[in-house]
Amino acid sequence: GFNCGIVGLPNVGKSTLFNALTKAGIGAENFPFCTIEPNAGVVGMPDPRLNKLAEIVKPQKVIPTTMEFVDIAGLVAGASKGEGLGNQFLANIRQTDAIAQVVRCFEDDNVIHVANKVDPVADIEVINTELALADLETVEKGIKRVERVAKSGDKTAKAQLEIFQTLLPVLNEGRPVRSMELDADQMALIRELCLLTVKPTMYIANVNEDGFENNPHLDKVRAIAAEENAVVVPICNKLEAEIAELEDDEKSIFLEEMGMEEPGLDRVIRAGYKLLGLQTYFTAGVKEVRAWTVRIGASAPQAAGVIHTDFEKGFIRAEVVSYDDFVENNGEQGAKEAGKWRLEGKDYVVQDGDVIHFRFNV
Ligand code: GDP
Repeated sequence: GFNCGIVGLPNVGKSTLFNALTKAGIGAENFPFCTIEPNAGVVGMPDPRLNKLAEIVKPQKVIPTTMEFVDIAGLVAGASKGEGLGNQFLANIRQTDAIAQVVRCFEDDNVIHVANKVDPVADIEVINTELALADLETVEKGIKRVERVAKSGDKTAKAQLEIFQTLLPVLNEGRPVRSMELDADQMALIRELCLLTVKPTMYIANVNEDGFENNPHLDKVRAIAAEENAVVVPICNKLEAEIAELEDDEKSIFLEEMGMEEPGLDRVIRAGYKLLGLQTYFTAGVKEVRAWTVRIGASAPQAAGVIHTDFEKGFIRAEVVSYDDFVENNGEQGAKEAGKWRLEGKDYVVQDGDVIHFRFNV
């Protein structure tokens, strides 16, 4: 599975968000959340298409695809120098596929700010500086390593040395490597460094209930994100925590009263998914209708491999129908009769929403 680490300064609303995520049983059975460790949980991807497929197929079970969130506490200024839980923090964050940085964009005199003032620009800078400093150390070590190899005439090492050196001034300024817009070849050359500031990042701007519009703090976060290829998700974590406590029927009434179409958490989960370049395909049998996650651009055998590695190895072909065609023709039989049921080979590139039957040798 894929995971997203939640980071941010103390008291910005991380735990509130994480707890809301852990409680968000959007129809408890359909979207289970289970806590893996105290600070990690798996949350079901909200996807109305899954419910629609279930209405048609009437399976015994409906299983959403999932995403893992990890609450990474303990980042303070000086973390890269080992302050606080610094080293542990950085090790935890290295394990994640993407980063969600919670930024305080709410005013509340009852909630102390670590720097005594709500200032998202300064807060982001503290966090990003620590991450950049940690990367700087990694790059410096990397340079020493590839320098030796490059001397022996190794072409890859030479190319690596060249690109590693271009990272230094960027990181020295405290800027993230993801702001450099490196191409695929360059990314491949720096992959072994496992840099923190290259990870796809979203800023979760934690606003008050009335803070979604005309909020100068939020505008500042948006400006920073635009400069460094990051995404912003404005959300009121306190409100989300309240919503997460409600029973399903109460929840829809409450959301309607608030003029919300869905809990804000759904936007966070979806943004994480999008950030990672992921998409969903479905299997729709009478036993089970299920959503699965694959990278955008995955081939049919790779998609089969998400279910089981044997499915990928023994892949023969995929029988595919798009979600729209499946629904429009009221299921598999109808889609077949309408000629919408396609046979696809190993080069087929899976599309978001495909309903797939895999054929394979065992
Ligand atoms: P963490 O240290 O980043 O995990 O922060 P917490 O989630 O513990 O939140 C710190 C305090 O801020 C708690 O008292 C929360 O109730 C409060 N808080 C969190 N989100 C909001 C918000 O959107 N608005 C307001 N007014 N308070 C919030």
